[in-house]
Amino acid sequence: MAGARILIADDDAAILDSVGWLLRESGYDVTTVPGGVALFEALEARQPDVLLLDVLMPDVDGYHLLERIRTDERWRDLPVLMLSSMPPEEASVRALGLGANDFIRKPFRPKELLARVQAQLRLGAMLRQTRQALLRTEAALVRAEADAETRRKLVDILHEVTGDLSVNEVYHLLVRRVARALGVSHCSIVQGQPAGRIGVVVTSFENPALHNLEIQLDRYPELRAALESGQPVLVEDLYTHPLYAEVRRVWDLEGIEVPVRSVIALPFTIERGHYGVFMLRRTRDMPPLGPTDLEFAQAVITAAVAVIQRAQTVELTRADNARLEQLAHTDPLTQLLNRRAMTERLTEEMERALRFDSSLALLMVDLDHFKRINDTFGHLVGDDVLREVSQLIRSTIRGSDLVARYGGEEFVVLLPDTTHDVAAALAERLRERVAEHSFGAHEGLALTSSVGLASFPAARIESVEDLFVRADAALYRAKADGRNCVRM
Ligand code: GH3
Ligand code: MG
Ligand code: MG
Repeated sequence: MAGARILIADDDAAILDSVGWLLRESGYDVTTVPGGVALFEALEARQPDVLLLDVLMPDVDGYHLLERIRTDERWRDLPVLMLSSMPPEEASVRALGLGANDFIRKPFRPKELLARVQAQLRLGAMLRQTRQALLRTEAALVRAEADAETRRKLVDILHEVTGDLSVNEVYHLLVRRVARALGVSHCSIVQGQPAGRIGVVVTSFENPALHNLEIQLDRYPELRAALESGQPVLVEDLYTHPLYAEVRRVWDLEGIEVPVRSVIALPFTIERGHYGVFMLRRTRDMPPLGPTDLEFAQAVITAAVAVIQRAQTVELTRADNARLEQLAHTDPLTQLLNRRAMTERLTEEMERALRFDSSLALLMVDLDHFKRINDTFGHLVGDDVLREVSQLIRSTIRGSDLVARYGGEEFVVLLPDTTHDVAAALAERLRERVAEHSFGAHEGLALTSSVGLASFPAARIESVEDLFVRADAALYRAKADGRNCVRM
């Protein structure tokens, strides 16, 4: 979505500069404004595709701006990405509750920021398409010869399904409402491939418990024809239509009485290479489906498909965000927590320990003469060793303990609810295991580690910083005392 317009509102000139630069470099058309008043002027002047909004600006609170934006019809669908340096829980819950689409915490990684902006652009585009489709449907419905009550109901259906629903929920709702609005006895959504033999009924109005039922497509020629041509198919009467000639022969042979009289099959594209068909049927005691019903159903389904695609995008975006969240907390080489994640966890655990008077211990583990490993065996082997040490630490600690790669060859282990003595024993065991370990296939690769330990409660330890300074000093002493030892 190069060329998309992005408006950034933040009182911090440095943020405006850096984020503005980053987004311009990525091909976006960026406008920056320093605060609240200027924001509305900019919004009035030219509608952006995405707004990046700072939570706290000196002249006005970002939350208030967000509320004002959301109550204005013109900007109701504008994707808003809130920026903040507040703790993520507090700020994000509030921002999302007020109608922000996403939240990103300062300082952010360029890649994460770009990914989130892209996700919002995708969502925004999808939302616009959905609304346009709704408008088109409304227009089509007005043209159609249906009575006013039915028309109102149909528009209601589609408004209802634009909410925050999963794809399956959307399917379910659609078949129910469409069946009622069109007065058909059967309404299902079937997934299938143009040349496939098997279709899968993902949901069905007449049988709500049914889920992912496989059917033989040669028994449903209208489904096959719809999938193959990509065009809607109307069979007014199964007992006379040529499409059903072969199937009727099978019915005769098997002595089957079929209660259904007419069928409409409406194909749609879920995403590239994935197709679905809405199948509407009426039994023989009902009036047959005709061209007017087809046109009517087509209008509804066109809008419904936009809704389905939007739900699909929302689901993908959620999965993306979860993955980004995970990436932001993980060290890529070892898959341990990274420094940022450890700092957050440590602050939480320290607060907990202070509040509940519980204990807490911190180990700093630094590999000895690691440079020599690189120099002797090469950097790639060095990387392998770091991964193996990570594994070793992980298997030594308990499930409730946390371990992070804190720097190049330095690890931090956080032991909640652990007394000084227990932590000291664990530190010693860890040191021993590293020293005794034989590293993979590398003959002569010996490695030791030095460990600094600090624990809480202890004299003059009142904060995370105190704990860190103490553990770091202990590590320094371990190095000075000849390495391969634990100091506290
Ligand atoms: P000391 O016993 O004093 O800790 O000696 P050292 O060589 O381990 O300490 P120093 O901090 O001087 O060097 C750390 C080395 O770790 C230097 C750096 O090349 C290496 N290193 C840091 N990160 C990585 C990495 O991701 N992969 C590899 N292979 N080496 C790394
Ligand atoms: Mg080292
Ligand atoms: Mg080091």
